[in-house]
Amino acid sequence: MSLFVASLNSGSNGNCYYIGNRNEAILIDAGISCRETERRLRRLGLSLTNVKAIFVTHEHADHVCGIPSIYKKFKIPLYISTRTLLKAQLKKVEAYNFKPYEPVSIGGLTIRAFPILHDAIDPHNFIISNEQVNVGVFTDIGKITDHIIQNFKQCHAAFLESNYDDELLETGRYPVALKNRIKGGNGHLSNIQAAKLFTEHRPTFMSHLFLGHLSRNNNSPGIVQNLFDGISDATEIVIASRYKETKLFAIHAPTESQAHSLYKGVVLPVQLKLF
Ligand SMILES: [Zn+2]
Ligand SMILES: [Zn+2]
Repeated sequence: MSLFVASLNSGSNGNCYYIGNRNEAILIDAGISCRETERRLRRLGLSLTNVKAIFVTHEHADHVCGIPSIYKKFKIPLYISTRTLLKAQLKKVEAYNFKPYEPVSIGGLTIRAFPILHDAIDPHNFIISNEQVNVGVFTDIGKITDHIIQNFKQCHAAFLESNYDDELLETGRYPVALKNRIKGGNGHLSNIQAAKLFTEHRPTFMSHLFLGHLSRNNNSPGIVQNLFDGISDATEIVIASRYKETKLFAIHAPTESQAHSLYKGVVLPVQLKLF
């Protein structure tokens, strides 16, 4: 069984990722308006009526600002940590708490949250699975931790933050304090950090890597594409745009013989220490 995935928008102007099977889907974050979310899904032949839940990474506006309008029209429940819900001041919504690594079932999808380092109250990233395919969303990460590595190693496809080019950030016009916030351990992941995670921990069965949350001022799609084209091997590299949706991609399970050799030695999610 395959999972179908798309980025509807990715960047500091709004983040929203679609992951589903043939019957139901979830969104990770809802950082663009209801109208724009609907419009982009429609262009992919999809609809918010099949979206059964929105999982929220953290309270920053680029991840939650579409929630009130989407909730008003579609009453889609949120899965969000209690502290994030309070901080985001999302009121009059149906909301469920989740705990790290405790699986949540949405129809045929299983979602597991894990903690990350970012300057938010209680940030998490997610792995979405059916029985055979794992898709990870790795975004707004200050630092690569064991949690990230262990989860990344299990993904057939991953959305991975590739926020800034070191030189562009260094020589750019941002105030020093903001530069330090971005590249500090609670900010964002650089192209080089993302590339290092990919080259050192990519499983052989990872078919697609979506690079996202690219900074408008401190990065460019061309820089990221060039960097990853050189190291991609058999993985298809997709740059998730800050202006429009990607195509809808089907992520397939490896064939049985592939799976037999590939899954050897892969560990299932376990509770890990943060450092
Ligand atoms: Zn963000
Ligand atoms: Zn953030």
